[in-house]
Amino acid sequence: MNYKITGGKILKSDQDRLYIKEETLYVTDGRVYEALPEEKRKESFETVDASDRLIMPGLINLHTHAYMTLMRSYADDVPFDEWLFQRIMPVEDRLPQEAGYWGSMLAAMEMIRTGTTTFMDMHMFRGQSARAAEETGLRAYIGRGLVGEDLYGDGLSRFEDVLKEQEAYESDRVRFVLAPHAIYSASPRLYAQAAEEAEKRGMLKTTHLSESDNEVMNCLKQYGKTPVEVICETGFLDEKTSLAHCVKMRGMDLAILAGAGSSIVTNPASNAKLGNGLAPLKRFTESGVNVCLGTDGTASNNTLNLFREMGLMGLLHKAAEEDPSLAPAEDVVRMVTTGPARALGLENELGVIRDGAMADLVFIDLTEPSLFPGNNIISSLCYCANGAEVCSVMADGKFLYRDHVYTTIDTERVRHEVDRLVKEYL
Ligand SMILES: [Zn+2]
Repeated sequence: MNYKITGGKILKSDQDRLYIKEETLYVTDGRVYEALPEEKRKESFETVDASDRLIMPGLINLHTHAYMTLMRSYADDVPFDEWLFQRIMPVEDRLPQEAGYWGSMLAAMEMIRTGTTTFMDMHMFRGQSARAAEETGLRAYIGRGLVGEDLYGDGLSRFEDVLKEQEAYESDRVRFVLAPHAIYSASPRLYAQAAEEAEKRGMLKTTHLSESDNEVMNCLKQYGKTPVEVICETGFLDEKTSLAHCVKMRGMDLAILAGAGSSIVTNPASNAKLGNGLAPLKRFTESGVNVCLGTDGTASNNTLNLFREMGLMGLLHKAAEEDPSLAPAEDVVRMVTTGPARALGLENELGVIRDGAMADLVFIDLTEPSLFPGNNIISSLCYCANGAEVCSVMADGKFLYRDHVYTTIDTERVRHEVDRLVKEYL
């Protein structure tokens, strides 16, 4: 289907700034155009009236665990180690494969409803998250959490999972990444092996890094180095690597990450909720590292709503540093658009609206009281929007949600199946 979108305000970006422009957009073959290419001019286009709408690029959530929706609000208000090792992991061990699918479908519902069109997922159920992305129309980067001493020894079955699901599901829209879980669950050797495999296969990489004090202290005790230093020595850090958390940065850590050209994915709600603190945004900015936003899983957030995450990002750092100029709205909006697009190697193709970019678009109702009047729409995206203003969502040139109606998800079925699984396994 081709679309001609008229009357909307478009969120545009260039190197220096974000700005709003009123113009007509054309969507064809999964791409968006301001000026329609000559060869497309004779085709027919369905007109979409976007009066009173802001059209922005689809939001990108660069770190989550989609299946965890099943454990939303299940283990709250407990310390990180107790949360992970005593509450979450025992449930994960008893969940069946289908939980990965239905949990990811519920995650897709929430992401689409709140304007997210791309997510990077670390999962534990082979093929389930990929299947959900494939069916719902979301753009996804999917990695199995790799653990153990040796990728070809005790880590082999998980690595084989990745290769099998890659073979079954990889497409332009659903891609696979290599994702060692964390330095406390995967050895430096496994990180080195994953880096080599990623290089050989042209895959992106991700991992959890320096999330808690305990992680850093145990790593210093075991290796005499910080997690960043250990992982750097394995060759895992380069511009194709995104690193979730990076809350506890010591010594040369940030200089190492910036020097490697890796991207940081900060997760303010999850870090706050698990009592891990607040990432050092001021030092991130000074180091010049690419900063992106993620929600983490719903067991530690407890939502996948990037508008809420942007609001927290904009407020928490100002409060902590007593500096209102920190985390300005425009920078925060870039953390869910142009920043993660760069981390994914898709600068100028994703996270932007310009000729030939991917047609991942979010339509926001500017008549909603939370956004009215539009004195500064970009600022309002960070400080006012709560996600409920999203009225239509398009990914890859197809509507996944149109005028508040899902087009790819049987929402009643998803709720029913999730309810059944929760009653049986939690
Ligand atoms: Zn995580």
